[in-house]
Amino acid sequence: MAGTEGSPVVIVGAGVAGLSCARALAEGGRRALVLDRAHGVGGRCATRALEGQPVDYGAVFLHGRDPAFLAALDAVPATRLDWPADVHGSGPPCQPEAFSPGEVRRAFAEGVNAFPRHLAEGLELRLQRKVVGLVPGDGTVALRLDDGSFLETEIAVLALAAEQADELLATVLPAPPAVAAARALLATASSHCALALLAAYGPAAPRPPWHVSYPETSRIVQLVSHESSKRPGSPLLVLTYQAHPAWSRQHLDDPDWPRHVLDEAARLLGPWAADPRTAHPHRWRWARTDLAAELARPLLLALPGGARLGVAGDRFAPGGGIEAAWRSGRALAGRILAGEGA
Ligand SMILES: Cc1cc2nc3c(=O)[nH]c(=O)nc-3n(C[C@H](O)[C@H](O)[C@H](O)COP(=O)(O)OP(=O)(O)OC[C@H]3O[C@@H](n4cnc5c(N)ncnc54)[C@H](O)[C@@H]3O)c2cc1C
Repeated sequence: MAGTEGSPVVIVGAGVAGLSCARALAEGGRRALVLDRAHGVGGRCATRALEGQPVDYGAVFLHGRDPAFLAALDAVPATRLDWPADVHGSGPPCQPEAFSPGEVRRAFAEGVNAFPRHLAEGLELRLQRKVVGLVPGDGTVALRLDDGSFLETEIAVLALAAEQADELLATVLPAPPAVAAARALLATASSHCALALLAAYGPAAPRPPWHVSYPETSRIVQLVSHESSKRPGSPLLVLTYQAHPAWSRQHLDDPDWPRHVLDEAARLLGPWAADPRTAHPHRWRWARTDLAAELARPLLLALPGGARLGVAGDRFAPGGGIEAAWRSGRALAGRILAGEGA
């Protein structure tokens, strides 16, 4: 796939949106190069190892209803689970539509990151490359990287959280009308943040009888994901706690937030939950898009000089979340392949 001919569309962001865009471009015969500042692919569709176990700490399961999206999930060569099957509590889910009739829910024993890793197969990818600026030129746009180098392309795509895309759009100076309009659109709402704590407990810890809990009595913890239930036979109990958006916003810069979450876990689950043998905190500054902020489709902007700039990501398709990210990437690829804005 990486050998497809032509000058590459350069995509900033190897999350689900950027990877689905690159794949669809490659399927349409157009070369794509994907850059990401991180060490691995997937962005917020994130899995890491804790005590040797894969643990999801962004979205803890995948859900959707678009048959094409579900087929893309089915194509992942990983151990597929209909998870969560046992849901506890009546607190608000992160994405309420995840449990609406007709919605299909999936997880992988290897972690949700198996999905973006599969999307990335065969693509041209450069990791640990942070883009810090955009400079429109004559028929091209130059992407400035944090090592001071530039990468020129006729078509660039920003496949990022909307706030991160806006940061890069702000570097296009003076802002042409299309960029100013895009920034105005993005400024109409902001994404929720989320604090996530991964915790592994010793073999004596009791195993909760559910896959996911949405505690209705907590102002701190929105969700407890029983991660080790995705891996039957796992010797340790592993949980991921996700804090409510409002509480996360208040405590984003509080160094003691993991302690508060564990104290709340003890109140909800029992005293044992206060003392995991290993814990790993993660701050998501831009976790999920506000449902009221969703846009109907990705943007494809014409820059002065003739280059084109696409903007995709979870904000740019109805429904939000991973399914929307995937759909926005494919929709943008379709518009690029159709020569829109050229
Ligand atoms: C705690 C949490 C819970 C969630 N729960 C759900 C849920 O229940 N259901 C659901 O559907 N979704 C959920 N989501 C949201 C879902 O994970 C995202 O909507 C989706 O993964 C976004 O994909 P994306 O490709 O648009 O963006 P991202 O995954 O954010 O990808 C953007 C990529 O760009 C990279 N990047 C950023 N800036 C730069 C730069 N300047 N240069 C180079 N690279 C850069 C990042 O490293 C990242 O890899 C949750 C997310 C979190 C964090």
